[in-house]
Amino acid sequence: MSKTTPVTRPMLAPLEEFIPYLERIWDSRTLTNGGPFHQQLEKELAVYLGVEHLSLFTNGTIALVTALQALRITGEVVTTPYSFVATAHSLLWNGLKPVFVDIDPHTYNLDPARIEEAITPATTAIMPVHCYGQPCDVEAIQRIADRYGLKVIYDSAHAFGVRENQQSILRHGDLSVMSFHATKVFNTFEGGAIICPDAKTKQRIDYLKNFGFADEITVVAPGINGKMSEVNAAFGVLQLKHIDAALARRQRVDTIYREALSNIEGIEVAWPDREGHNYSYFPILVNSQFPLSRDELFERFRSRDILVRRYFYPLISAFPMYRGLESARVQNLPIATSVSSRILCLPIFDSLTDEEITHVLDVIVQARNGVN
Ligand SMILES: *Cc1c(COP(=O)(O)O)cnc(C)c1O
Repeated sequence: MSKTTPVTRPMLAPLEEFIPYLERIWDSRTLTNGGPFHQQLEKELAVYLGVEHLSLFTNGTIALVTALQALRITGEVVTTPYSFVATAHSLLWNGLKPVFVDIDPHTYNLDPARIEEAITPATTAIMPVHCYGQPCDVEAIQRIADRYGLKVIYDSAHAFGVRENQQSILRHGDLSVMSFHATKVFNTFEGGAIICPDAKTKQRIDYLKNFGFADEITVVAPGINGKMSEVNAAFGVLQLKHIDAALARRQRVDTIYREALSNIEGIEVAWPDREGHNYSYFPILVNSQFPLSRDELFERFRSRDILVRRYFYPLISAFPMYRGLESARVQNLPIATSVSSRILCLPIFDSLTDEEITHVLDVIVQARNGVN
C-alpha cells in the first residue's frame, strides 16, 4: 500500500479475473464498434441502473458534447458553476453560451428558485448536475422546463446507481450523461454513457458516436468518434460484478466519518439522509468556528500525505474562458462562491482501510484541539 492516501483510488477488480475477458477479445478479433462486450455492458448496466436505454461512450465529456448535439441545442443553456469544468466545456464545444445560476446551500445543486430569472428568449436548455451524487430537485426543474419549452440534460457523472423513491435518478430529464472515469464510483478506466428515454433517441445517439454512420454508405449527421472499445467494455462487465461490495464499503466509510464528525464545532457535514446514495464523495464545510481556515486544513492534510481535494474550487465561472460572462459575476453566485471557499472532500473509496480513516479523522480532531 502506498504511504499517501489519495481522495479517491480506483475500484479495480482482481487482475486474474480480467485475463479470460482479454482472451475472449483476442480470440474474437473484435476490438471496438459495438462488439460483444460492448453489447453486454449496455444491457447489464441498463438492468443494474434501472433504465431502459443506454449508449456507451469513450468518456463522459464526449458524451456530454454528443447529448447536446443529439437534442440540437442552440443559444443559451442554464447551468451550475459548481461542478467539474467539463460540464461547461461541453457547452463551449457546441458553440453554446453557458448562463450560470447559483446553487442551493443544502444540496449544492442548481437552485430551481433562481432558474427562471436567468431564462431569456435565447435559452433552449438546462444542464444541471447531481453534484456528489445528491439528486437535483428534478420535479421543480422539469416544471420550469415544461413552462418554457426547454430541454433538460443532466450531468450525472457523480450519480451512478443513485435512486430516489426506488427509481433511478438517471431516468429524469431528456438525457442523462454519466462518466466511468477511473475516479468515479464505477469505472471502465475511461468511459461514459448517455441514458436515453426511448429506442429512437438511442439510435440517433449511436449514429452520432460513430461519425454519423447509419449504415455502410449512409452518413446522417456530422457525428464524432465517441465509441467505447471492447477492452473498456469488458472491464466494465467485470467491475459490475464487484460494484455492490464496493458500494457497501463506501457506505461504511461514510458512516464512520459521519459519526466521528457530527459533533466537531466548525465542521459541517452535508445530507443526513443518504437513502439510495452511492457515497461517491465525502464533502465537509470548514466554517469560521473551526480553528483553521479551509486552506490551512487542506495544507495540514497534504503535509500528512492525505491528498484531500477542494472539489469544487475554483468555480467554473472563475476560469478565464467563463469569467467575462455577465452570469459569472460573484454577486450573481454568492452561495456557490461561499461553498467553494469552505469545501473539502475527504478520501472515500472501497479500498480505504480503517487505519487510513483513523489517520484522516485524527488530522481534523487534532486541529480542533489545537494540536499541531
Ligand atoms: C468526471 C466528470 C465529467 C467528465 O467525465 P470524463 O469521463 O472524465 O470525461 C463531467 N462532469 C462531471 C461533473 C464530472 O465529475
